[in-house]
Amino acid sequence: MSKVNVAQVRAIEQRLASREAELRSRVREAKEALADRPGTGAGHVEDLGEEGEQRFRNGIEHVELQRDQEELTDIASTRERIADGSYGECVDCGQDIAPERLAAQPTASRCVICQGAYEKKYGTTLRYST
Ligand SMILES: [Zn+2]
Repeated sequence: MSKVNVAQVRAIEQRLASREAELRSRVREAKEALADRPGTGAGHVEDLGEEGEQRFRNGIEHVELQRDQEELTDIASTRERIADGSYGECVDCGQDIAPERLAAQPTASRCVICQGAYEKKYGTTLRYST
């Protein structure tokens, strides 16, 4: 294990648990809201303005839902790293991740340098495919 001590890990686990509960209820609500809505796409064509707006809003909700789900995945993998003792180490280079970075972002799995390289290569922000 890296520099992260047991007390810090406990505190991080608690933060992850409350964040996870929050995300889960948000994901559930978002899914319900999307399911309740009359389908986009096939529908009236005469009112393009409203439909376009509706479609746009659905797009935003989908992106938020996807982001929340990705964060839940991050939380799950963070738990695995805590369990196997690799938490706090960069998954790419194996160096310790700066404690300040972990405090700001407990699910960080890379050091700042590797994260920068990763983002350059793959990008992290979700983009609209327009
Ligand atoms: Zn690294």
